[in-house]
Order: sequence, then structure tokens, then C-alpha cells
Amino acid sequence: MGPTNGTYTSPSAGPGPAQLSPSLAALSLQSSTPEALRVVNLLQERNLLPPGPIPAPTPCLPQDLQKINCNPEVFRSTLTSIPQTQSLLNKAKLPLGLLLHPFKDLSQLPVVTSSTIVRCRSCRTYINPFVSFLDQRRWKCNLCYRVNDVPEEFMYNPVSRSYGEPHKRPEVQNATIEFIAPSEYMLRPPQPAVYLFVLDVSHNAVETGYLNMVCQSLLDNINAYVHRCILSCLMSDVTTHSVVGQCGSLVYVQSGILVSSLVFVFQLVQDLLKSLPNLFEKTMETQSALGPALQAAFKLLSPTGGRMSVFQTQLPNLGVGALKSREDPNQRASAKDIQHLSPATDFYKKLALDCSGQQVAVDLFLLSAQYCDLASLGCISRYSAGSVYYYPSYHHAHNPAQVERFQKDLKRYLTRKIGFEAVMRIRCTKGLSIHTFHGNFFVRSTDLLSLPNVNPDAGFAVQMSIEENLLDMQVVSFQAALLYTSSKGERRIRVHTMCLPVVNSLSDIFAGADVQAITGLLASMAVDRSVSASLSDARDAMTNAAIDSLASYRQSVLTIQQPGLLAPACLRLFPLYILALLKQKAFRTGTSTRLDDRVFAMCQLKYQPLAYLMLMIHPALYRVDDLTDEGALNINERTIPQPRVQQLSVEKLSREGAFLMDAGMVIYLWVGRNCNPNFLTQVLGVPNYTAVPQNLYLLPELDTAESQRTRAFIGWLRDQRPFFPTLHVIRDESQLKANFMQNMIEDRTESALSYYEFLLHLQQQISK
Ligand SMILES: [Zn+2]
Repeated sequence: MGPTNGTYTSPSAGPGPAQLSPSLAALSLQSSTPEALRVVNLLQERNLLPPGPIPAPTPCLPQDLQKINCNPEVFRSTLTSIPQTQSLLNKAKLPLGLLLHPFKDLSQLPVVTSSTIVRCRSCRTYINPFVSFLDQRRWKCNLCYRVNDVPEEFMYNPVSRSYGEPHKRPEVQNATIEFIAPSEYMLRPPQPAVYLFVLDVSHNAVETGYLNMVCQSLLDNINAYVHRCILSCLMSDVTTHSVVGQCGSLVYVQSGILVSSLVFVFQLVQDLLKSLPNLFEKTMETQSALGPALQAAFKLLSPTGGRMSVFQTQLPNLGVGALKSREDPNQRASAKDIQHLSPATDFYKKLALDCSGQQVAVDLFLLSAQYCDLASLGCISRYSAGSVYYYPSYHHAHNPAQVERFQKDLKRYLTRKIGFEAVMRIRCTKGLSIHTFHGNFFVRSTDLLSLPNVNPDAGFAVQMSIEENLLDMQVVSFQAALLYTSSKGERRIRVHTMCLPVVNSLSDIFAGADVQAITGLLASMAVDRSVSASLSDARDAMTNAAIDSLASYRQSVLTIQQPGLLAPACLRLFPLYILALLKQKAFRTGTSTRLDDRVFAMCQLKYQPLAYLMLMIHPALYRVDDLTDEGALNINERTIPQPRVQQLSVEKLSREGAFLMDAGMVIYLWVGRNCNPNFLTQVLGVPNYTAVPQNLYLLPELDTAESQRTRAFIGWLRDQRPFFPTLHVIRDESQLKANFMQNMIEDRTESALSYYEFLLHLQQQISK
């Protein structure tokens, strides 16, 4: 972690709470909050970004509880101190909600096999580190406060192999734990894992060359599927009639055989994958009957459930679910309010709900240069708990960077963990109430999400309110339980429990604000608002969130009034993040934005886990022409340079330098016109600036220290996320330079305020 000055330090880092007794009796915030509440005048302090990644704030809990608390990468709250009452929350004007990454790949996950899974008899909460033991035989639930008996089996600790220490069981020692569930947790016997691929084989699709890539990736990764699964393909190019015909010959019969003779069918599938691309090589079919193909695929998967992967390269224009172009290219930049953000038909939503009912999730891969009405098509994934992947203008020859990304993404997609027939329930301490959910799922009952598939790359958010005052409580808890069937047919339950303190003063609420979680939740809320009301409404709501919370801070927390735009240190990046959201593809106005690009950005804001989301909202900029090993990390004997994060402003660029911008899904390397010749020769392998190739997306592997450092740094950035961001080397003349420049959030554009102007606007509104 960087120096304490200007970075987020945890309010509980001081010696205070560590010395408190676990009884929580002396829980106090007063002594340990100076950094989070340090007053920052945003108009004066310009350099607000910490040099490296921003850690999540640590809840102000006694150390023994905090030590055991859930990892914030998996489970975090917008407010790490929960207000005692709704009226106190209303005063703070900050949103209260949870952000979850429940199925994240974890290197260490305790797994328990036990015939009795201990749960509260009243509210069904799983026993967790934050319950209290009254004695060896009784425990008190931390959500509903019912006193429960400790079952006999729980008296034995399988880890220490000793009796009589129920509080040392792994369930009570780990905030994240997985149970292998007994049969009562199954609605039906585990089904075979069924994977169905719905492939667009129209002329347009074949032209892009994507089919070769999909078939090749499947062949390369087919071993991951050998274990009790069924793999089949279905074509979506032709009319309803022949779609069903195709099912009959290629798919349905095969899946019938597959169950009985896996090896035989594997051979069949492999042969099919090898011959598929050639089979459709000469097709002149230009129409797409996606709707009928989806219906046929749904029928095939209905008995077992499973995963449907749909590849589509154009607007479906035949049969049920046919769509018409709704985009007017001339309106892309000028319109103040964007039309057609909601679906044109309820066909895809209805089918998605049918799929959800039969435990089928639909993942959509959209590879198209033209408008495809993602606002309508995306519903098929949204309500069936699938994902949407988007590769605009995919072409095997014309777009090599996109090809590389598609290939890497497919590999991740085909090999990552998957949970079938999943449901997720979120419980919280009595008095708190969960309402709006964000992500891809179907809400089955008030707190239960239906997830036909769950994957390790999916994020969720929920909004909360305080229904009953939390007057006598010092802490509250939240528990997310994800029940799923593994691809090997085991029923498992992954449980995450988080504990947070309850506070009764506004300053304590502000001190515990998690600016990144707040931004993530507001982004999801703004997507809903754009669709249900209008884009300008959503933009206003985000700006008002910044105005209202800073006004509340000024009026109710600050004791000494001073001029300027004042924020507590923990919220000093809030206006910057809000401005970044306003300039984000999803919400921007005045800049030409294709409708599908906008809708895709909205999808991402709703279901990406927070860590990836933040890079998309506020990319990280680094100067890389002078990388050194000073302060470098050492991982697996590789030295990873750690350049400092720069402000997103053209002011920070220098023509003598090279700058790397990590925007989550894409990485730009901007090379200045007078760039340091050493960087050009030692990293890019070219003699001078004019020799830097256009459309360069791969760095040469040169045997120089500079090349190794640069590639190690980029590789390290890529390793931190599941999907593969493409690299684009950018010169002044590059087409993509505009995209790079649009991420310079602090600068003024023709249609949007600079950061400083935005701050002045906020100040004006606050002092009204
Ligand atoms: Zn309970």
C-alpha cells in the first residue's frame, strides 16, 4: 500500500478497536476516524488519486471480528457503518446497498462435508462466525436472535479432530465456506451438464470467419467437457421449418446417443466441429431466424436444463422474435434523450423466463458490424441469468485484435467453473430489508434469485432500506447463500457472511462510506432509470447524488464552515467518479454513440463485479516509457513494475513519453510524437516514431530489460481479470485515438464539462 497521506486508510487501523473486548460493549468510532473524515477542499487539492489500486475501506469492528470478516472482493456494502435508522440514512443522502461477487474463483475455499448443515430453526440462516454461543449446547442466531441447539455432530471438529469445541468448527471460523449438500437440498437428481451451441451460419456469419474460431476453440478445450456432459450444436440460419429439421438430424438424435455412449458421441461431436465450417462455406442464406432457433433449443434443453450459447452476427429478421432496425444514425450525437433503450418485443424476455423455469441459461455472443437491437436481444440473457458478450465488427482478417480477444474470451468461457440449477438467497439482520436487485437473474420471491447457471465472472448488487430501527444493536450481519450443482453433479452451498457495525451519527456514516461501492450501485440504479424514465433523468439523478451527499456533509457533519467544495477524504473521488459515469458510453450525450454500444455498456454496468467495473468507469493511466524496478512487485520470480496512476487529463500526457491506459476491456498504449527513442527501439522494436505500425496490437518479444518490464506489467494487468483486454498501440493518426481521448475524463469536451467546471457546478448547487 502507498503512503498514508492521500490514500484510503481504514478507520479501524488505529490501536483503538483492537484493544476492545469481543463483547463489543465498548465499540466506539470517535477515537479512530481522522483520515476518512479529513476535510478536503476539492477545488484546491487537485492530486487526489492514490498512486496504486484503492483498497476497500475496513469496517470499524473489533479486530477479532474484522479478522474473520468476509473478503470485500466477494461481499461489500456501500456504507461500512450501517445507520441506526432510516431517517439517519435519509439525512446522509448516500445509497445503502450490497455488492456481491458470489461465485468468484477463490484460491482457498474451505469445503465441509457433513450430514447436518447447522442452520437457524427460525430464519434458516447458516451458522457463521458472527453467531454467539451461549454455552456449548446453544447458539444464538445473529440475524433473528433465536436461540438454537447445537446438534451432537457439531460437537466434533473435523479440522482439529477434537470434541467439545463447537466454536472452533470451520463453519464458525470462516466467513466464506462451501458445504457439500445432502439430498434434501436437491429438487431432483443432478442432471447431466448439457451445453448447447446455437450457431449463426448465414452468409454474413460465415463471412466473418467466427465459426472456425468457435469450432476450433471447442476442439481445443473439449477435454474440459468429457465429464458427464452433453454437447450439441444447432443452426440458426434458416427458416423455422429447417431449423427443426436440423435439430432432428444433427442434435436431437445425438443427444439421445450421448447419454448412453459418451466416447462414441464425443467422436461424433469432434467430427461435426471439424466439418461445420466447411459445411456452410458456400451458403448464400442471408436471413436469420434466431427466434425459432431459440425456441427449438429451449425444447431440447427443457428436460435437463443446461447452458445455451448463442452466436449471432446480424439482426434476426425471420419468424418469431424478428426485429427491425430502430437506430437512426443521424440521431446518435444530437439527441438529448435516447430512444429505444427498452426492448421492441417481449418475445426474448418471455422465452428467457421459460428458460429460467426449466433451468436453462442463455449466453449471447454478438458479433456484428450492424445494429442488432441488443436492447431486445439482451433480454434472453438478462432474465435467464446468462451473460452478453459483444465483439462489434468481428472479422477474421480485418480485425485481428478482436479475433485475439474473442479467442481468449472463448477459452475462459469454455473452461471456467459453472454452477447449474442455482439459487441465491440474501438474508440480513432483522430490521434491514432488501429490495431492488441488479444483475442477470429472475427474482423468484422477495429475497430469492433464480440462476439457472452461475459463473465466476458475474456480479450482483442489491439496494437496502432500514425498516425497523436498529436501536439496541452494535452490529448487523448479511448472508448470501448460493446453492448450485457443480458440473460433476455435486449439490453445493457457498455461504458468505459479512458483519458491519451500526452507528448513530452522520459523521460515523460518512466515515464508513465506500466510494467505489457507492459508485457501482449508483451506476446500476442509473441504468434502470434510463430505461424506466429517461437518460436525462438518470444523469440528473447521478449528479444530484453527489450534490445531496456533499450538501448533507457540509450542513450536518462539518463543525467549522469554510469556503470551497468540501468532502470527507473517503468521498473525495465521488465527484470525479460521477463525472466519469456521465461521460461513460452508457450515459454520455452529445458524442456519437451507437445504440448497441450504449446498451452493451449498460449491460456491463449491471452485471460486472465491482473491481472490473471501476476500470471501465475510471480507467487507470500510467506513464510507461520510463519504467523502473523501483517499488516493483515480485510474483513467481517475475519483476512487475508499479508505475504511479496518473490523472486522466491531456495535461498529464507528454509528447516525449508513452502512456498506457487500462480501461478494463481494452488497454491503450499511446505513443507521443517525440517519444523517447529508447522506448521505440527497446520496446516497440522500431527505429523511429513514423515506423510505429498502424493497428499494432502485439508488442514484440524483445530481449531487452525495457521490453520485459513493459510486457510483464501488461501481463500482470491482464492476469487480474478473467477476460482478455486487447492492447492497441496508438499514434496521433490512429482511428482509436478518439476513444483514448474520450477517456480523459478530467478534460473539457464540446459537449461535457471539465472536472473543474463540474466541481464549480456542484459547489453552486450546494450553496443554493
Ligand atoms: Zn435466525
